[in-house]
Amino acid sequence: MLRRVVVLSKELTNKIAAGEVVERPASIVKELMENALDAGATDISVELERGGCGFIKVVDNGAGIHSEDIALAFERYATSKIYEFDDLYRVRSFGFRGEALASIASISRVEMASRTKEDISGTRIIVENGKVQEIIATGCPVGTSISVDRIFDAVPVRKKFLKRDLIEQGYCMDALTRLALSHLGLRMRVATHGREILNIPASKELSERISLVLGAEFMEQSVSVSGTREKVTLQGFISRPGLSKSNAKQLYFYVNRRFVKDYLLNHAVMTAYKRIIEARRYPAAVLFIGLPPEDVDVNVHPAKMEVRFRNPRELYEMVVEAIMEALSQASPISDKISFSIPEKKMGLDDYHARIEEALRRYALPLGKEKLLFEQSFGKKEDDRNAGEKTETTIITVKPVAEVSLRFSTAEYLGQIFGTYLVFSEHDALVLVDQHAAHERILFEQLKKASSNERVASQRLLIPEVFSLSPRDFSFLMDCVACFEEIGMEVEHFGGDTVVVKATPAFLSQLGAKELIMDFVEAFSEAERKMSLADKRDKIFALLACKGAVKANQRLSSAEVSELCKSLDAIPFSATCPHGRPVWVSFSGNDIERMFKRK
Ligand code: ADP
Ligand code: MG
Repeated sequence: MLRRVVVLSKELTNKIAAGEVVERPASIVKELMENALDAGATDISVELERGGCGFIKVVDNGAGIHSEDIALAFERYATSKIYEFDDLYRVRSFGFRGEALASIASISRVEMASRTKEDISGTRIIVENGKVQEIIATGCPVGTSISVDRIFDAVPVRKKFLKRDLIEQGYCMDALTRLALSHLGLRMRVATHGREILNIPASKELSERISLVLGAEFMEQSVSVSGTREKVTLQGFISRPGLSKSNAKQLYFYVNRRFVKDYLLNHAVMTAYKRIIEARRYPAAVLFIGLPPEDVDVNVHPAKMEVRFRNPRELYEMVVEAIMEALSQASPISDKISFSIPEKKMGLDDYHARIEEALRRYALPLGKEKLLFEQSFGKKEDDRNAGEKTETTIITVKPVAEVSLRFSTAEYLGQIFGTYLVFSEHDALVLVDQHAAHERILFEQLKKASSNERVASQRLLIPEVFSLSPRDFSFLMDCVACFEEIGMEVEHFGGDTVVVKATPAFLSQLGAKELIMDFVEAFSEAERKMSLADKRDKIFALLACKGAVKANQRLSSAEVSELCKSLDAIPFSATCPHGRPVWVSFSGNDIERMFKRK
């Protein structure tokens, strides 16, 4: 049967749009909260029943809506936030599509009461499944209160996709947490079934807000991070190397105070933590990025958690550098002690290759969109007013003070279990894992060597010649350049045989053949396909491990003092290249508590 073309009814188009905007109760909570914040609210209370599946109410003390506008607010594409196309690239508000209220009201029953401060009385409107039921004058305080119920009643398929109430409530709380972190001045209360479950006062400091929302432990185990490059700024807190998570849920990214999920930012953070925390573990972070609104496209996805950056590279580099800088000085766990680094010179060289890789992947899923993005943004470069100042986010970050610890001046007390070096420093007892410490030192030296100065290399009196399987042989040949950078000379000798002529001096005790054999074995099939930068990273970590003093090895006091000096001179000395701690400390307080003196 040939079917005719018709224009869809308003009700139907609103329902279709609702499919994108309203996925679950948490999406409603997010949209209502954002509307309240856009209206300048400083005090918002939220009520949820059955995890938002039954009932959602949001009451704000914002600017309110004029009685003539209240019905319009429920029309699709009705907004007070942008008036012309170019405004889209200057938006500072959360909303701008004018879709949320229309979408929400198309799949539920919404009751809204609102008053502006100029009006003596307010207006109440009831909209059910997209149809306005009544509009009447009502007495109400300045601001807006909006209740939503019968969610998805008219769309049973959607209802089926909802999870258990408790899980839906979790999603709602996630949405509220994200907003609480980015709006310090906001007082927020949340109640479920008449019981208050969250009550946070306005805060002055981000650290205070984080403690209230994410827990005091999060704050205690974080260091502050900040960075600026051109018009881009970064501020926030990141977890110390000693605290890592099994998933990436504790990574909060904000762009101009908008919570985003962004592959590039994720990648930047993971790059900065690479070889600092264990593989397959994740750091925690709350990071605020500020950039000129015209340098970011927020109009990528209806739920607005995705953004596109005009200069992804600049941003990526800045984030990696700022985090590495903060981490290079961080102690693994407590905030009582950290290393001081006489000269801050970081091993930033090998991450450039990773940037290329990340940017490639960033650009990949864009396809046509990217072209559009460049058309809208890319060409405007010249006529943009050059002197314009970056909008700085209103987040204040008070750095957590770090007391510095130097090993070369610490008092060395001795070695225990042939493995741990014991120091007394300031008010603390410090244990150092000699293998982990030496490993980190060698790793940093290798990284440095590969970029500028050479490591001491040792010529073999008798070059060692041996053959490899064709597979291993070609892989080894791929890595020759990395070896060369660190003074290891490996050459093709004919057929599938290779000759090793020199090794880094710190590896000279080890047989060259054994070293190479262990090396090729350590790379799995998948790892052999890694990027050059990642391969180099793994090679260095592997060689550092091979060359480092082992556990159960006596160290002379001269060796210990050499180790201390090196430890003071390198960044990231808190963990070994596999992410294990290099040292732990016990403060006088800790010890007194152990003896129950306190
Ligand atoms: P958008 O936020 O994209 O503009 P919405 O559908 O969410 O679209 O809201 C439509 C309009 O209704 C807003 O532009 C705003 O003018 C008004 N509005 C909605 N909620 C509130 C509120 N809590 N306080 C004041 N005005 C509101
Ligand atoms: Mg909105």
